[in-house]
Amino acid sequence: MTDKKNDSSDLMDKLVAMCKRRGFIFQSSEIYGGIGGFWDYGPLGVELKRNIKSAWWEDVVRANDNIVGLDCSIIMNPKVWVASGHVGGFSDPMVDCKECKARFRTDKIAYVSVSKGENVLLEAAVEADDDNEAVAAAMAAANSKTRRRIENAGDELNTSVTFLSKIPEGETGSCPKCGGELTEPREFNLMFQTYVGALQDSSSTAYLRPETAQGIFANYKNVLDTSRMKLPFGIAQIGKSFRNEINPRNYTFRSREFEQMEIEFFCHPDEAEKWYVYWRDTRYQWYIDHGLQSDKLHLRDHDPDELAHYARGCADVEYAFPFGQSELEGIANRTDFDLKAHQEHSGRDMTYFEDELWKTEAEKYSADKFDGDKKAAKKAAEEAKSAMPYRFTPYVIEPSGGVDRATLAFLCEAYTEDEAPDENGQMQKRVVLKLHPRFAPIKIAVFPLVKKDGLPEIAHKIHAEAQTAGLASFYDEKGAVGRRYRRQDEVGTPFCVTVDGQTLEDQTVTVRDRDTLAQNRVPIDEVVNYVRQRIIK
Ligand code: ATP
Repeated sequence: MTDKKNDSSDLMDKLVAMCKRRGFIFQSSEIYGGIGGFWDYGPLGVELKRNIKSAWWEDVVRANDNIVGLDCSIIMNPKVWVASGHVGGFSDPMVDCKECKARFRTDKIAYVSVSKGENVLLEAAVEADDDNEAVAAAMAAANSKTRRRIENAGDELNTSVTFLSKIPEGETGSCPKCGGELTEPREFNLMFQTYVGALQDSSSTAYLRPETAQGIFANYKNVLDTSRMKLPFGIAQIGKSFRNEINPRNYTFRSREFEQMEIEFFCHPDEAEKWYVYWRDTRYQWYIDHGLQSDKLHLRDHDPDELAHYARGCADVEYAFPFGQSELEGIANRTDFDLKAHQEHSGRDMTYFEDELWKTEAEKYSADKFDGDKKAAKKAAEEAKSAMPYRFTPYVIEPSGGVDRATLAFLCEAYTEDEAPDENGQMQKRVVLKLHPRFAPIKIAVFPLVKKDGLPEIAHKIHAEAQTAGLASFYDEKGAVGRRYRRQDEVGTPFCVTVDGQTLEDQTVTVRDRDTLAQNRVPIDEVVNYVRQRIIK
């Protein structure tokens, strides 16, 4: 079996076509021409995404006694976003083209120049995330004559890439779409605004949340007080976030409406580094455990000059998508910045009191230690209680991942083209989605080989038993069985069960493995258990 993994340059086109054809992902409001940056998940896509979220929830919330869940509203008091800094600073510098009116982020417009000695062979303005992408885009846009001249120039070429955000002040760039003149850069806030209530004025302005994290910080005290958590503990949330991205692109990778899965893990400041390393490594490993090949997955520690001013450490889990290596999840040590900001803006106490520690140390402040002076003892006790080591603002470690980006990475990784035998034993090309069984939208497909001799009845029974056992099952009796296998391979179903003539004789069925193509005979009454055991992680 020869595998053609997703290194083909047209993987994205094939994946997008497959996702549409098989009902994973549709363009939002497609019948009206769509809307940029918004996507709908179809019947199989919604199952895939749900399985990814459930796996995360099970591994994060259920598997850890000191992590609890939360589900906050999307619209919150706008003061939340003032405190978090999003109203003042959640913006990208952008420019508009005066001619064609297109809008761009200044850090996404690149000017590429390729020359040989004095001779300039190619100059182009393109949209790109990094130097490599810029050169590739410029080459793709060049005419064939220019491309030939560059290819024939050997290695004496001088290639330079300058992003608009880096060109000296006073110099203006040109539009990558039409070459027209660009406006001066302006800050563009990425939060979607709306109004709450009947009045539409500045007093009723509200925002769709651009991240789920702030809902967790705003509820930190509620959770602490009601769940009786002790440090270190975490609060996890999965939910929609919205960003009015200037250039949504790369399919679902950069959308305007997307889902996040975030943990805010609160700990003692002295332990923050330890927990940062723990979460960075744990989250990285989670993607590997669920099938992302480690040579495509990278853990990138940020350089000190990349860090936000309040952060002590930050790392990105990145995946080598067909369109370039990009972030799936960020893990940051955010120090006590967020809790302190909300304490300052809300006036609510966000500190943590080490009551266990105080209990053991309280006797240091008994009156007899102060020559019987109760007042002095009380005063000293109050002072001690309000400061370290008893009272302090916890540090926060934040692993923040995108559900849609994870889904896209798992799809890219899983998409494989190989060959499998048809019903006549002839090798046929197939597309197979080698998803982790935990994520597969359908876990088991059940086929009667023919629509007679009582085979459909047996197949229906197995199908119903699988559904009752909580395994997403699909019943199919139409067409040649080889075709039915291939349809299931394409959507990642790990096991297909076929009821055939031999079933009537010995009460066994064929179980076919999606990846190895091995076919085993398994007794009917053991088949659901057989599959279940093999799909548990
Ligand atoms: P980027 O630099 O790619 O814009 P970011 O660093 O701004 O991402 P965060 O604010 O750290 O992203 O958000 C946490 C996670 O949320 C990201 O790792 C990503 O998986 C997801 N995410 C952020 N913006 C988008 C988006 N526009 N579309 C889809 N997912 C997103």
